[in-house]
Amino acid sequence: MIFKRKENNNQSTLKIISFGGFGNVTQNLFVYEYQNNILVVDCGVGFMEKANRKTELAIPDFTYLIENQDKIRAIILTHGHDDHIGGLPFLLTKIKRPIPIYASRWTAAMVEEKLEEQSSTVRVKVINSETHLNLGVFSVDFIYVTHSVPDSYHLIIGTPNGLIYHGSDFKFDWTPVSGRQSDVDKIALLSHRGINLLLSDCLRSENSGYTLSEEMIEESFEREIHNCKGKFFVTTMSSNVSRWQQALNVIAEHRRKAVFVGRSVEKVIKIAIKLGYLHLPQGIEVPLNKIRNYQPQQLAFLISGSQAQFGSALEKTVYGRNPQIKIQPGDKVVFSTDYIPGSELAIHHLIDKLSYLGADVSYSDISDNLHVSGHGAQADQALLISLVRPKYLLPIGGAFRQMKQYALQAQKMGYEEKQILLPERTQTIEMLSDGQVRLGAKINLRPGSAM
Ligand SMILES: [Zn+2]
Repeated sequence: MIFKRKENNNQSTLKIISFGGFGNVTQNLFVYEYQNNILVVDCGVGFMEKANRKTELAIPDFTYLIENQDKIRAIILTHGHDDHIGGLPFLLTKIKRPIPIYASRWTAAMVEEKLEEQSSTVRVKVINSETHLNLGVFSVDFIYVTHSVPDSYHLIIGTPNGLIYHGSDFKFDWTPVSGRQSDVDKIALLSHRGINLLLSDCLRSENSGYTLSEEMIEESFEREIHNCKGKFFVTTMSSNVSRWQQALNVIAEHRRKAVFVGRSVEKVIKIAIKLGYLHLPQGIEVPLNKIRNYQPQQLAFLISGSQAQFGSALEKTVYGRNPQIKIQPGDKVVFSTDYIPGSELAIHHLIDKLSYLGADVSYSDISDNLHVSGHGAQADQALLISLVRPKYLLPIGGAFRQMKQYALQAQKMGYEEKQILLPERTQTIEMLSDGQVRLGAKINLRPGSAM
């Protein structure tokens, strides 16, 4: 990666670079650079659509980081979704010196599990709300926020040119299943120091109001299991521990046994129980190879493959390639999920096939409240802006149209156009020594490479 036009050589400029590209929802990888100091925030993957309904991993462009690895003070991970941590194992194979990695307890467990698959001995340093880090010229404080994966954090990054609030994926859920709300008083308290720039999740800027609380899903599961005469299946994003907890609560109430099917579901549930993020009702679990000892109406399956991914447990089951589970009339399958763009066709094919086999299928086109997003809508975003009161705004984690909607809302709140940064995909952001923030040079960024 090289800078296309003459780089701003002013030594006192802080640069912010997105190596996944601004306007890219996935492949989150942000770099804060000041003189000989680089701070990396997140290192995610994305997915590329391929022929035959197969997808391949897309990873950010690591060239600059590899060339400048001596400057990297630390890698900080905001939360445990793959589009924020999945690229780390690939980056670490290319970096020759040990770099401290910081993440919450849950995120650290997810990362270490990935690294162990590569026989890596890298360990992640665990942070919490109390942690304060000094990393070269940078300082970092951590703010707990609610999202659709446990233990997510926002960062307040101190730099020589001003304070930056790095607001990765979040929503303000006042009744979270875990019981722990976002730390709004800390946001307000630390923001009193004067935040110069707010980077904010903008993914749901097209949606008005607040995103609904996760807790409402349990009622929907109750409604769905109530009349189920056969086997009951729930599928959702495997990393959504709160969603699995609610499914398990309802399954226990209806005195069914729970069967965990699919590698990603089994992995997440095992770690979540071990670390205390999930409560498994006593005696509820039945291994897949023992299900023949039970009647269909005694069983409930927590199964991976909510996007109908080719080769996932659900896809294999529906198309008859799972010898242990057969879909029969009277079974019910609940898709507790949104369609990820590009998956609609595959999911609809799966629903067609399930319907043909005689199963009842509940999905968001026909049933309400089967899914709530982990990302805040306009009111959540406005609340964060109001708490942080930054001089400048930079929407991240959304496509350009969502960045634009975020900007329009900020303008309604009194911000001027010049205070809202809307970079092109490869543009850098510069924060000058007087605190002024502006769009900088473009970089050459290759498209995500297939692994
Ligand atoms: Zn996320």
